[in-house]
Amino acid sequence: MDQHKIKNIVIVGGGTAGWMTAAALAKTLKGQYNIKLVESDQIATIGVGEATIPMINLFNRLLGLDEDEFMRQTQGTFKLGIEFVNWGQIGDRYYHGFGVIGQEAWSIDFYQYWLKQYLAGKAPPLDHYALNNVASMHNKFMRARSDIPNSPVNTIVHAYQFDASLYAKFLRNYSEQRDVQRIEGKISDVQLRDADGHISAVVLDDGRKIEGDLFIDCSGFRGLLIDGALHTPYEDWSHWLPCDTAIAVPCASAPELTPYTRATAHSAGWQWRIPLQHRIGNGHVFSSKFMSADEATAILMNNLDGEALAEPRTVRFRTGKRTKAWNKNCVSIGLSCGFIEPLESTSIHLIQTAIAHLITHFPSAGFEAADIREFNRLMDDEYIWARDFVILHYKATERTDSRFWNYCRQMEVPARLQHKIDLFLTNGRVFREGMELFTKNNWIQVMHGQRMRPKSYHPLVDLTSEEEIKGFLDEVETVVANCANAMPTHAEFIAATCAAK
Ligand code: FAD
Repeated sequence: MDQHKIKNIVIVGGGTAGWMTAAALAKTLKGQYNIKLVESDQIATIGVGEATIPMINLFNRLLGLDEDEFMRQTQGTFKLGIEFVNWGQIGDRYYHGFGVIGQEAWSIDFYQYWLKQYLAGKAPPLDHYALNNVASMHNKFMRARSDIPNSPVNTIVHAYQFDASLYAKFLRNYSEQRDVQRIEGKISDVQLRDADGHISAVVLDDGRKIEGDLFIDCSGFRGLLIDGALHTPYEDWSHWLPCDTAIAVPCASAPELTPYTRATAHSAGWQWRIPLQHRIGNGHVFSSKFMSADEATAILMNNLDGEALAEPRTVRFRTGKRTKAWNKNCVSIGLSCGFIEPLESTSIHLIQTAIAHLITHFPSAGFEAADIREFNRLMDDEYIWARDFVILHYKATERTDSRFWNYCRQMEVPARLQHKIDLFLTNGRVFREGMELFTKNNWIQVMHGQRMRPKSYHPLVDLTSEEEIKGFLDEVETVVANCANAMPTHAEFIAATCAAK
């Protein structure tokens, strides 16, 4: 073990990853460590990354944020899930909502009862039994109400959509109020210790030198420390996740403020639509092997709901992950560590997870090899879980209209994912592995929504009479519809609670 005492923490980069890390460490380390964050005004942040998943609520709770204030400051909107358009086949539409479907069961899932009826043509789509989904269809929103027992309104689960640059600014204020020192400047050199190859300092182009014990690389795709200085290899996943470019453009808001992100598949990728209070964020993610940037831009610009508010911007990326998220005295967090791709909004979550694991394995009097190994094992799992769920969206398609979809439909997927698909196709069974991020309900909605159909349903469903199943399903459907009906619209809810001034 290296007995070097940890006292000075240097965060490199002031995008979402840098400021989330600074805020969380400032709150957790209670002023006992010196935290510096270096960022360069000459190097822009990625500027996208505006949709989240519900786990961000844990992060906000750690920071002690007031939700309304956070929404006001970031022009935020609420997100109940994602609407997927054109994925299984052109013309298809389904919601992947965050909440419960039907009722939580301890033995046989609600889905199995519904599946029996659905396969017999006796039940409407699955969306009808999930309050998050029905509320999305009607642009309704409210927060979960734990004071109404046995009601689906207990089970509403939400995340956020926000302006990425305002989010970084919001967290910067939070961090600076808690003694994080921001240093503006461009890093031109990284110095390593001869003895063990650990990073000793970063040097700015005006000659200033910033020394530290623990370095956190949040420098984005550049990977200034983890790659540039420590040459940590990158595992490429582009054979499973072939999109490598995004064209992004904001546009003016449309009349209905939708409480969800939309992901519309095109012929070589897909387009995101993220509604905020003051604008809509849009982007076309595609594979440059299958489509030119000009064509992708034209498709994006022809599919906006309002007037474009800026020139379209191109972002290139390579899906994959560092083989070691933590190497020597450097922890990579955010895009410097890896990128799956924006579908299912997992990146900000992976930043949050890395921060949580870093806090759990925080070094004391030095760097323990076992702690670093465990951190890296956990981060590998986190990325692989998210990766496999995203790959599913490309694999589970019947589209044959383009070379891109033919490739995706026919590609071999990781064995663990194939096993999940095989299980589902047999009797509609889905299992959540360990601490895996996505739940059964997440997997079922995407598999079913993209036309995967099990051969049969769970055999024990037949122990319940059809009349009883029908009564049960009808009751859930009616209660869900009534709850959604009684909810305010998303726009009304925001106007009443957290509209930006
Ligand atoms: P960046 O934002 O790139 O920040 C890098 C920082 O490093 C900057 O402050 C820069 O100034 C600094 N820096 C770099 N080099 C130097 C240097 N030499 N000296 C000093 N400073 C330096 N995630 C989601 O969760 N949801 C989404 O909907 C989503 N959509 C996305 C869409 C696209 C097309 C892409 C590419 C990503 C998306 N992501 C999304 C991911 C998300 O954008 C990132 O995870 C998040 O913004 C974190 O980025 P970052 O902080 O790692 O890097």
